[in-house]
Amino acid sequence: MITTDSLRKILELERKQGYTDKAVIGGLDKYLHKQAGQIRQSVNNRQLLAEFDELNLANSNYGSCDVDERKKCVMRLFDWLSKLEEVKQGTLTSPLPSRERNKVRVTVTSRPGKRSEGLNSPITIIKGITPRVATKFAKLDVRTMHDLLYFFPRRYVDYSQRKPISELKEGEEQTIVATIWQARIATFGNRQGTEAIVGDETGNIRVVWFNQPYLAKRFLTNAKVVISGTVSLFKGQKVFASPEWELLENKDLIHTGRLVPIYPLTQGLYPRQVRKWTKEVIDGWAWQVSDFLPLEIKNRCQLLDLPEAIAQIHYPDGHLIAGRAKERVAFDELFLLQLGVLARKRDWQESQPGHAFNIYQEVIDGFLHCLPFTLTRAQERVLWEILADLKQPRAMSRLLQGEVGSGKTVIATLALLMAAANSYQGALMAPTEVLAEQHFSNICDYLSNASTQKEKIGNNVECYIGFLSQPLTIALLIGSLKDSVKEDLHRKIKQGEIDIVIGTHALIQKEVEFYQLGLAVTDEQQRFGVLQRSALRQKGFNPHILVMTATPIPRTMALTLYGDLDLSVIDELPPGRQEVKTRFLEPQYTEKAYSFLRRQVSNGKQAFIICPLIEESEILEAKAATSEYAYLSREIFPDLKLGLLHGRMPPGDKEKVMRRFREGILDILVSTSVVEVGIDIPNATVMLVEGAERFGLSQLHQFRGRVGRGKEQAYCLLIPSYHCERSEAATPEARDRLQLMEKTHDGFALAEKDLELRGPGEFFGTHQSGLPDLKIAKLSNLRLLELARQEAIALFQSDSNLGKPEHRLLRQQLSQVWSKSAEWS
Ligand code: ADP
Ligand code: MG
Repeated sequence: MITTDSLRKILELERKQGYTDKAVIGGLDKYLHKQAGQIRQSVNNRQLLAEFDELNLANSNYGSCDVDERKKCVMRLFDWLSKLEEVKQGTLTSPLPSRERNKVRVTVTSRPGKRSEGLNSPITIIKGITPRVATKFAKLDVRTMHDLLYFFPRRYVDYSQRKPISELKEGEEQTIVATIWQARIATFGNRQGTEAIVGDETGNIRVVWFNQPYLAKRFLTNAKVVISGTVSLFKGQKVFASPEWELLENKDLIHTGRLVPIYPLTQGLYPRQVRKWTKEVIDGWAWQVSDFLPLEIKNRCQLLDLPEAIAQIHYPDGHLIAGRAKERVAFDELFLLQLGVLARKRDWQESQPGHAFNIYQEVIDGFLHCLPFTLTRAQERVLWEILADLKQPRAMSRLLQGEVGSGKTVIATLALLMAAANSYQGALMAPTEVLAEQHFSNICDYLSNASTQKEKIGNNVECYIGFLSQPLTIALLIGSLKDSVKEDLHRKIKQGEIDIVIGTHALIQKEVEFYQLGLAVTDEQQRFGVLQRSALRQKGFNPHILVMTATPIPRTMALTLYGDLDLSVIDELPPGRQEVKTRFLEPQYTEKAYSFLRRQVSNGKQAFIICPLIEESEILEAKAATSEYAYLSREIFPDLKLGLLHGRMPPGDKEKVMRRFREGILDILVSTSVVEVGIDIPNATVMLVEGAERFGLSQLHQFRGRVGRGKEQAYCLLIPSYHCERSEAATPEARDRLQLMEKTHDGFALAEKDLELRGPGEFFGTHQSGLPDLKIAKLSNLRLLELARQEAIALFQSDSNLGKPEHRLLRQQLSQVWSKSAEWS
């Protein structure tokens, strides 16, 4: 560097002096001759060396040339110097074309060589990663080179905007490329740090690090340095304070002058170290990653090659390519997820022979004929989807999705009836006693419509239905029954004396044995874990399974999360339903909302008041609800009967309050978000949600579904928190979100909006679904999820065992990813 710098200075002087050959003592040709060895040493590019030798030769009689010839010689040397610098530092020091002026570009001349150790080698093969450092990485689940390649940055800092020093602006993130004029240890207060003066062709600037005195030694005078950071003003002077820095050597920039990756770290790992290592791994190992995606899919979906994508995620050339790189890896994750889900489903279906039911048309007709309403088209479609499954000699496994109030229960009842008509037992499990009781009474009503005679025997109901040869016995099994009653039920269930049993978790206790369980229905399936679902399944020999939910999950997502289930959707409400009038109210109108509520109550109606969500702790939330309840009972509605419901109450107490509300003893139910899904209180007409901005749209929609179940017009009032002005709820987005509730009554649309705004919530995580974890992909990216699913289905159709040679790598990858969560055979 220094030799070529001096050469440039000499040439400049020579030009200034009109090519009089007085720039160096002894003449330019002698100087070149003498310095040739040194100059050559600083050049490691063959082409440039050859050119230099040629120039040197041509210059050997510089002293005896005329001015024109001398000028040509000098110009050629200048050209050569520029080329040299370009190669060394990319375009950094040569004048940048104007369009490119603000971009730092570093041309890579020599990549550190590819390394031959395999991807499964421990990360300790990297210099600097000691066993102690490796234990830190292990905390981040990084153990092998492969892990490190897939150890992705959380975000980037954009240091790609290069500025000449004279144009630096205070307060912005900027990058300069400069020469170090001077660096020294400086004292700040009682601490030692480093102070440097650096400059470029437009000016100089002071750079300080308040606590890294050792930097002073590393910053050699005349060395080139890249500084990235924010400029501040100090005593009227611009200064970089503790910026990122990097010496400009014959290497790619990783800490400055680019999109710089920020990794999720743990104590004892430092950003600069980790960047150095990830860079080394990418340069040395990324090429070894085998691209397992079939070429056809890659082309069709316009995806980057895998090694490139990995490299670009770590050290992207720009935002655009970073996005594409992430998309490639996210696609991989979702595609493998889908392939696994499809395989699981196929395996499950193949291994689940079931009971083929006879579909008795006269039973269906008889039942439908006696209903006080006709099925909606959506109900009818779904009914036939279910009946078609029940006919098969393999077990049905179906998810029935439908908005609150869309009429799922009647469909479940028909399926249960069909089981009974085939001399099998049917069971329906609900998450709470109140819900189970509600189902019991509704299902008995539906069935008794069709019966000629109905008898109540203890807890059981017996219906004589004309078109069934035997009377139908329906029972309710819940935990709060007396032990003697429970035991009696257990016995009857075991002996087949009960045809349809409706209950809670009490149904899956080990004491419960069925005579011949043919159909198991679970309601509000999101409230049960996978295990409880399968516990009910275990109660019979491969019974048909129907799970019902009102949680509107977008279709592709449902098919992924509940991949072993087929999906039916009731996407239509019974006619004549009134939309729940929804209003967003500013907090100052809370009093008005209370008087509105009071008027409804004086007309004999009931109301819910939901207290703000406190996510941090259920205890705090219960406390807040309790004091809100006390306040409302004392100050606002002293003459009305209020009830309180929160998550910390013993289950028995919860049930009691719900029952009192249901029976109309209470006027207003003050509740936290625990207010039961699926609960049907036709007399309730007002749902008032306080602190509404804290809830997701889907959740608000569920609350709203608690009212408007009767014939009266119902109302939903959404009030943000009082302190809303100061919290993030004051943002226009939060208001827009709540106002969307006024306009939109479609649960699916709201769920998608929620996903877009808030990402997948706890219901939608892959974790509890027994699926592999996702690193980069988001299930809420429905577009990519759908694309991955289509591609997976297409591939599955053409080669479902992935037996074709071109799918070998894919097959390997699939079994690796799924090995932790499921078996792939
Ligand atoms: P959900 O899908 O939320 O479980 P339900 O099964 O509880 O809904 O049905 C809600 C109400 O709508 C019940 O009172 C039910 O009798 C009634 N219902 C169901 N289907 C129809 C229909 N096709 N026409 C009119 N009312 C219906
Ligand atoms: Mg329901």
